[in-house]
Amino acid sequence: MKFKSAEILKRYRVDAPDRFELKSVDCADTGGIDKDAAQSMLADDVKRLADLQQRLYAEDRWALLMVLQGMDAAGKDSVVAHVMSGVNPQGCEVHSFKAPSAEELDHDFMWRASKRLPARGRIGIFNRSYYEDVLVVRVHPELLERRKIPRTLIGKHVWEERFQDIRAFERHLARDGILVLKFFLHVSKEEQRRRFLDRLDQPAKRWKFSMDDINERKRWNEYMAAYEDVIRATSRPTGPWYVVPADHKWFTRLVVAAAVIEALESLDLASPKIEGAALKEMRKVRAALLAEAPRKDR
Ligand code: AMP
Ligand code: MG
Repeated sequence: MKFKSAEILKRYRVDAPDRFELKSVDCADTGGIDKDAAQSMLADDVKRLADLQQRLYAEDRWALLMVLQGMDAAGKDSVVAHVMSGVNPQGCEVHSFKAPSAEELDHDFMWRASKRLPARGRIGIFNRSYYEDVLVVRVHPELLERRKIPRTLIGKHVWEERFQDIRAFERHLARDGILVLKFFLHVSKEEQRRRFLDRLDQPAKRWKFSMDDINERKRWNEYMAAYEDVIRATSRPTGPWYVVPADHKWFTRLVVAAAVIEALESLDLASPKIEGAALKEMRKVRAALLAEAPRKDR
């Protein structure tokens, strides 16, 4: 069966943000695909992605930024590991955003993200991002205080103002040739509970568990409300959100891979053609190399 990726992607891409509701996406959805089929499709997609990335790199004009957001244990790391497994590490940069350092707090909230934007020809992956500044910081407003923004600048519209700034930032990137795709890995609270238990039960996975995760889990509803608001306010054609069902990791990976492939294919990437004088020159060099006698001492 051919994965009708265009149809499935359309279901998860937020094209009508004003009307978007988180509950319209079932965390356990698998788009009618079974796990075995999904795994072989992902293997094909990983190859396609490798080829597209090579062309992106060769053309050296566009860049792609993937923003991954989601609650703890939603599968962000696993998307990075599996979806990008075939791409050349030279053309790909992953950055994980943690709680900001003192130096980062001394700057505007976009500063640390701006420094990590992908160069032309590259794929950049943000594992969490500047969106944390309208998510975790919104759920814990005391964090906003730590940034020492002049008090007169923080009013009741502070979140709407940040949304405006994020939209403007992403539009700027789009106009400069950096494609932005944003993924909210939508895991259910019940599946998170299972994954946390798994992390606690398996010694090899314990390092992934943090006590903070339990505290954030207690604020689940506040996070969901914050995510819904963020998606409504910032899903735009120049930076669409995909709300990806995340209770089945194999399906999550497939949707993310399909979205990246669709975006890169839309660029119509062509490897640069060598023609005219440059080609003539190359032919001369080739002939000279052929004429060189092979030396036995090498
Ligand atoms: P993890 O992704 O599990 O390694 O956790 C990283 C932690 O850093 C999460 O709890 C995030 O909410 C937190 N974090 C990331 N960015 C920010 C930010 N701008 N302000 C406060 N906390 C943040
Ligand atoms: Mg975590």
